[in-house]
Amino acid sequence: VLSIRNASKTFGQRRALDDVSLEVHKGEIIALIGPSGSGKSTLLRSISALQTIDAGPGVITAFGGPVQKDGKIDSNVRKTRTRIGMIFQQFNLVGRLSLFSNVALGSLGRIGFWQAALGLWPAETKQAVMAALHRFGISDYASQRANTLSGGQQQRGAIARALVQKAKIILADEPVASLDPVSARRVMEILRELNETDGLTVIVTLHQVDYALRYCKRVVALKAGKVVYDGPPSDLKRDRLIDIYGPEFEDVF
Ligand code: ATP
Ligand code: MG
Repeated sequence: VLSIRNASKTFGQRRALDDVSLEVHKGEIIALIGPSGSGKSTLLRSISALQTIDAGPGVITAFGGPVQKDGKIDSNVRKTRTRIGMIFQQFNLVGRLSLFSNVALGSLGRIGFWQAALGLWPAETKQAVMAALHRFGISDYASQRANTLSGGQQQRGAIARALVQKAKIILADEPVASLDPVSARRVMEILRELNETDGLTVIVTLHQVDYALRYCKRVVALKAGKVVYDGPPSDLKRDRLIDIYGPEFEDVF
């Protein structure tokens, strides 16, 4: 469902991505791990067309259509992007707006801007929003302003929005990094459930290696912009992790 071929990205002298190739199949749940600065966020941003990769051989396609190549974002990428939901560590929701409105914004690709600005959500959107809020246990907060919600509630709201958006791929960049362990587990369980029950394809970057091993069936590790591991969690042994993270890797547990 996603194909990244020979993607490189240079910032000045620094190679954030170094000839990365990755095939992602529908229904996979992949943890993207690696030390700070290894290129994880750069890769997710490149897939979601928030950023270009270097001109050259690099090509990224999603759902069989081009996302970018030759260092340029494809001009028809909008439609593809509505099928990709991005979740970030924070700043996921518009703080002044209610949780309900934030989640309803997921339907923006399908309804008019002014209709949304005035809060004139179609009945179908309202239903989808409330169903998603119920599903993730946050329906009681529907009318609360997003910036008054806890981090875990906001993160679940962001995932609800991706669901209302009808995203088929979820790219989550450190979705649990600023959450307490209980909220973090909840968010990871939701991602797993969306993968298993709804068949969504999930790629999640994680600093916690133990979450990667517990929740994901495939682990891809980046180091200095290169893929240095791609396989099941079971083959990711201790010495391999020390290789990836360096001798202080115990700190990441
Ligand atoms: P972390 O785990 O800390 O989030 P990461 O694996 O997500 O790290 P990236 O954010 O992808 O790493 O960054 C990869 C490299 O690219 C880093 O060396 C970073 O400094 C550099 N980089 C990323 N974005 C930019 C930018 N806009 N301008 C310059 N350098 C950048
Ligand atoms: Mg990052």
